[in-house]
Amino acid sequence: MSSRNGSSEIGTIVTANATRSAPYIGRFAPSPTGPLHFGSLLTAVASFLEARRHDGQWLLRVEDIDPPREQPGASDEILTALELYGFEWDGAVTFQSASRTAHDEAIQLLLDAGKAYPCGCSRRDLADAPRGALGIIYPGTCRDGSSASEFALRIQTDDIPIVFDDLLQGCQEQSLQSESGDFVILRRDGLIAYQLAVVVDDHLQEVTDVVRGIDLMDSTPRQIWLQQLLGYATPGYCHLPVAVNKLGQKLSKSHGAGGVDLQNPEGNLVLALQALGQRPPPALTWSGIPDIWQWAFESWDIAVLEQKTKIPVPVQAIKP
Ligand SMILES: [Zn+2]
Repeated sequence: MSSRNGSSEIGTIVTANATRSAPYIGRFAPSPTGPLHFGSLLTAVASFLEARRHDGQWLLRVEDIDPPREQPGASDEILTALELYGFEWDGAVTFQSASRTAHDEAIQLLLDAGKAYPCGCSRRDLADAPRGALGIIYPGTCRDGSSASEFALRIQTDDIPIVFDDLLQGCQEQSLQSESGDFVILRRDGLIAYQLAVVVDDHLQEVTDVVRGIDLMDSTPRQIWLQQLLGYATPGYCHLPVAVNKLGQKLSKSHGAGGVDLQNPEGNLVLALQALGQRPPPALTWSGIPDIWQWAFESWDIAVLEQKTKIPVPVQAIKP
């Protein structure tokens, strides 16, 4: 993945940030792998405020398609935390696992179009494959057929540069064939790969704008590629700097980030706004949740995060 300075070229897939015709539909899509931690809170706050600033809708979708990684009760914990922090989502919460039929239909379309194929390679088979920033670059071993009885499905990629203009991170470019190779859309264990599920669900929900962490930015070109193959519109993308602890590690369960504080949502919401570069007046800490959101609706400015890739998180916001 590389940044680029602009203009479009022939032989390049460039997704335009068209003038907005559809009403803004944003979303927050947590995975139930643990409670809502401060890093995910920042994403929720930013995506919610962006949606509200555009008088748009903000959808809440639980991405529960990877049961082995999920934690029992985590969905409920996340929803409880979001309610306590005063988030208001539009419509009912959706669960990604409920759209399995739509995922399978999209996979069938890709198979029928000759764009997807079975890959029987095991991890060991790929041990010598070249590696890039995204992991193994699939060498195309099974492109011409596989006789394996257990297989994943991969999507054929091209070496056309895929370019998109990120709201915060600027123009990004990736060539899939050389940087990721043909990638998996259906896992060997039968589970739907994230890349496919997120594309299908954003399309079904008519999401126009994706605001999420920068750790997902390098998967965006693969998602744009799937959108192209499936004939879907490409949403606008905004990749937020990722919350890091004082060692510079991304906040995550594995790096000791516990759930957000449920005893003091007011104080923590103000900390989140500060971490996102906003300047809430100190007295806001002692206000109620509705007043904090009111201030945020009026003052929200995402531009202060332009070109930033990391947000150091205040110690008091990290609960072990
Ligand atoms: Zn293979």
